[in-house]
Amino acid sequence: MKAAPQAQQRLIDLQELDTSLDRLAHRRRTLPELAEIERLDGRRTELRDQIVAAETELGDLEREQKKAEQDVEQVRTRADRDQKRLDSGMVTSAKDLASLQAEIESLGRRQSALEDIVLEVMERREEAEAKVNDLRAEAEKSASDLATLNERLGAEQARIDEEAGLTTTARAGVASDVPDELVALYEKLRGQFGGVGAAVLYRGSCQGCHLALNTVDLNRIRAAADDDVLRCEECRRILVRTAESGL
Ligand SMILES: [Zn+2]
Repeated sequence: MKAAPQAQQRLIDLQELDTSLDRLAHRRRTLPELAEIERLDGRRTELRDQIVAAETELGDLEREQKKAEQDVEQVRTRADRDQKRLDSGMVTSAKDLASLQAEIESLGRRQSALEDIVLEVMERREEAEAKVNDLRAEAEKSASDLATLNERLGAEQARIDEEAGLTTTARAGVASDVPDELVALYEKLRGQFGGVGAAVLYRGSCQGCHLALNTVDLNRIRAAADDDVLRCEECRRILVRTAESGL
């Protein structure tokens, strides 16, 4: 293939712009905000489940407390009733009096045991409330963190897109200076060789594969016409000569 030396130089400019675009695309894909947002999203899903579980536990404890309080109330009512009967003087038989007193004592013990249960449930309920509140606070904070991160991500992406837009415009200008046939070969090689289709020969080394060319190849290049499109024998990329090629 033939192409004017200036067109070959422009191909190197094109390669530089394409490399810049590849770097920008890579940066856009790997912005640290993306990983942080993913982590935070995962945590928010976890939190939703944890809040549901904690709220369920709290509801159970609220019911348990109510039930225990009702039990206390029932025993107290019964003890009050017995006490009134005792105080009324209507129970006269010694046997009945003794049995009534025994029941009042037994109800007193029962009431005290039930009150302990109420206290214990209340303590667990307070812990469950604190847990629900902590989880809700964390969920709120993660929502606001997420909003901040998304804003930062958007700004970062907009900056990259703007730079990519300018680079793409510049690229179009440079590409128009290179013959279509050479651009097509370059694109094909770029696809095959990790984004680098054309490289400079610098001090006897191909800057595509970074290998020093042997004397035979260098002599072949020295003998080639200026407008011959050369290829690196090692990596097959388009090799462009400059004043610093060491020829
Ligand atoms: Zn090479």
